[in-house]
Amino acid sequence: MTPSLISRIAETAPLLTTLAPLRRRYAPALAGYGDPGHIALTFDDGPDPASTPQFLDALSTLDVRATFFLLGSMLAKAPWLGRELTGAGHELAVHGWDHRSVALRGELSTYRGLARTRDLIGEVTGTVPVWYRPPYGVLTRAASTAARRAGLTPILWTAWGRDWEASARPESVRRRVRATLTGGGTILLHDSDCTSAPRSWVATLRALPGIVADCRDLGATVGPLAEHSALAHPGAPADPGAGPHRPLAEVRPLAENRPLAGPPA
Ligand SMILES: [Zn+2]
Repeated sequence: MTPSLISRIAETAPLLTTLAPLRRRYAPALAGYGDPGHIALTFDDGPDPASTPQFLDALSTLDVRATFFLLGSMLAKAPWLGRELTGAGHELAVHGWDHRSVALRGELSTYRGLARTRDLIGEVTGTVPVWYRPPYGVLTRAASTAARRAGLTPILWTAWGRDWEASARPESVRRRVRATLTGGGTILLHDSDCTSAPRSWVATLRALPGIVADCRDLGATVGPLAEHSALAHPGAPADPGAGPHRPLAEVRPLAENRPLAGPPA
């Protein structure tokens, strides 16, 4: 997706970027639609010493690698965990320095938070993040410009487990994900409760085997965004402004995806 397209989409935000059905329909690359034979698994809000190690173990057991959208403030408190994630083959990405919505801050403030987090990930793990997911999925025009300046590509999700809610249970998280799960989609989960209901991550952790099984039932492999093919973004782009992605028109239309279940009621 070209930066100008992201900006145009961001102009219609936060409505478009916040409402998953609209996003799936009108901004598939921003939503995270990639190769229909692949489903990207992503986790936000870590790394968290209280919970991320359990996710590392579970993903190892399931033989799945994922993309973790880190908060810089969390990584600063547990840099060793960042190294464990990359050591296990997971991809690191930027969620922001803290969890304040970009709707409440200007471009410069957003840029500083993104650049600081990007640089800390680089310093701690030696890897260069390329993806950015704004807190709450709200992408403003200022935030999309800030991300481009920081060499990051905004990406949201196509399926979520609403696993941050106090009422979340393993079955509800799996059911929520299944409701919009398709080949080529991107799943949003959380490996930390730092912005969620206390210990909500336990439901996420217990839902994981079933979610991975559902992906595999669709005939899809599960992995990080780096392996999402149509969106694959190996290494930092030499010219972030050029954008590595296919324009929207070249992204496979939704009709080619195979729904596991009907759309959510
Ligand atoms: Zn978050």
